[in-house]
Amino acid sequence: MSFFTSNIEFVLVETSHPGNIGAAARAMKTMGLNQLRLVTPKVYPSAEATARAAGADDILAGASVTDSIRSAIGESTLVLGTTARERSEKWPIHAPRAAAQLVMKEIENGGKVSILFGRERSGLDNQELASCHQLIRIPVNPDYSSLNLAAAVQVIAYELRLISQSENLQDTDKESELASMGDQDALLEQLDHVMQETGYLELDHPGLVRFHLRRLLLRAVPTSKEIKMLHGILRAIRKHL
Ligand code: SAH
Repeated sequence: MSFFTSNIEFVLVETSHPGNIGAAARAMKTMGLNQLRLVTPKVYPSAEATARAAGADDILAGASVTDSIRSAIGESTLVLGTTARERSEKWPIHAPRAAAQLVMKEIENGGKVSILFGRERSGLDNQELASCHQLIRIPVNPDYSSLNLAAAVQVIAYELRLISQSENLQDTDKESELASMGDQDALLEQLDHVMQETGYLELDHPGLVRFHLRRLLLRAVPTSKEIKMLHGILRAIRKHL
């Protein structure tokens, strides 16, 4: 069980109401999860958060506070974003049960998973959603679709609990260890240099090229070995230039 809990982190992004942070901690603890990260919460620490945590204050005490999503997910190999909004074909959207399967598979492969939860009023913005591998949407009543943040945390945590009890978690296979988001960022930076040095970026729309390259990498879910190989190739190209 510790193997399961230590590799899944719930990341609450710019939460406005401290009560929701406490309620989210409580929701997580009831499902055996304990890794909580807060990205620039509006009010924190807070007595209200502790009160709403109702005994899950150990999760609050252990929660790390970060000032950017980028640093929050740097070590993760799979990043899932939760969203209330229906989306275009641009991003694959999973129901919580299918998403829980992805999470378990990732952990079995030795990966680390971050699940992002957005702001109460506006959720996660498009750029934040674009930095996720996949999205999760809890199906809701179309006539009343507003789900409270901590309630969304509860649903996702429950599905993880359910699947963790039904699956046999296996040992890590080093060869298939997935690359972290930090490794992928470093590769994209290196690619950026090569595109500038070869003049490619001048020819095209740089922002769009970077966006598509990032999407391509996220879709491919590369192993750290593959990323190392790509680094080597880019180094060789730069040397040649
Ligand atoms: N109007 C906002 C709603 C934000 S609700 C929006 O368009 O996204 C606050 C957070 O709760 C969301 O960012 C998401 O993390 C979670 N949430 C709420 N409803 C959800 C749903 N149906 N499926 C998945 N996550 C949901």
